[in-house]
Amino acid sequence: MKTQDIVKFIESINNLDTKNYSRLKEAIEKRDSIKFVSFILNNDYSGEESPCPYCGADKYQKWGIRNDLQRFKCEICKKTFNILTGTPLANLHKKGRWLMYAQCLIDGLSVRKAAAKCGVHRNTSFRWRHRFLKNTNLIKPEKLSGIIEVNELIFARSDKGDKNLKRKSRKRGYRSSKYIPYKDRVYTMFLRDRGKNTFDDIIYKFSAEKLKPNLSPLLSKDSLLCSHNKSTYLRYTKENNIRHGILNLSKRESVKKDIVHINNILKYQQDFIVWMERFRGVATKYLHNYLSWYREMDEFDFKIVAETVLIRAKRPEKYNTNHFR
Ligand SMILES: [Zn+2]
Repeated sequence: MKTQDIVKFIESINNLDTKNYSRLKEAIEKRDSIKFVSFILNNDYSGEESPCPYCGADKYQKWGIRNDLQRFKCEICKKTFNILTGTPLANLHKKGRWLMYAQCLIDGLSVRKAAAKCGVHRNTSFRWRHRFLKNTNLIKPEKLSGIIEVNELIFARSDKGDKNLKRKSRKRGYRSSKYIPYKDRVYTMFLRDRGKNTFDDIIYKFSAEKLKPNLSPLLSKDSLLCSHNKSTYLRYTKENNIRHGILNLSKRESVKKDIVHINNILKYQQDFIVWMERFRGVATKYLHNYLSWYREMDEFDFKIVAETVLIRAKRPEKYNTNHFR
């Protein structure tokens, strides 16, 4: 566009009627939001952190910009890619609305409410949610230290949204976990050290053998594991030679020797359950996304910002997680 044409165009803005002025304003806002999101994505990038998504090489050069995203060409495999290739955000449309969507996640909006707010279809909203959350699973502490509290939560298996459901679906959950039949139980492990590092995982059978691969890498010689007196924990700590602070909850024992308690993890679980209520039951296959999402917010003391959500969402799948702490 020539300069004189631009001047004419700007002058013509004064003559626009309300409807057309709104259209113009909307177009400018849309462009701004796309530019802004692209700016955030483009600027959180370095070859050291993100190798070529095709061959893993770290030798590549800038190869122009397309759709506002920086492209690269790998010097080894000669393939081109952009900053989102190989990440959960690859091939998602309507980039300009991603930041707003990230805020909807922070605000804990339902799929429908987030869809309405961002002006996208509810199916898109659902897809975005799980793409945005996919990487949160990658950030878990590899080690916990000192006094570590452990407790489990039982969820009823839910096939919500599963079109190939063989049995009749349940309309409502169970009032309490003790009413959940064993075959429908999904156990969630929560571990938290006194430095507020939290680990969670889903196991389908609650036994000392099943606990071992989850728990053992997190603990070290000086760990003191605090739990209630469930036989599974007793067996696990005995077999694996781990110091164990045991609370007898049925005798209302809540603190022993001033340090043995599980109050932090109980509070964490309680808050998690309250936070989950807004989603009105989630499918078991997505439960880990919600666990991780809550853990991520807790890590930021519930002050995480939309830009961080976006940057974390676009990590390549094999990312070294500690960088983001
Ligand atoms: Zn390559």
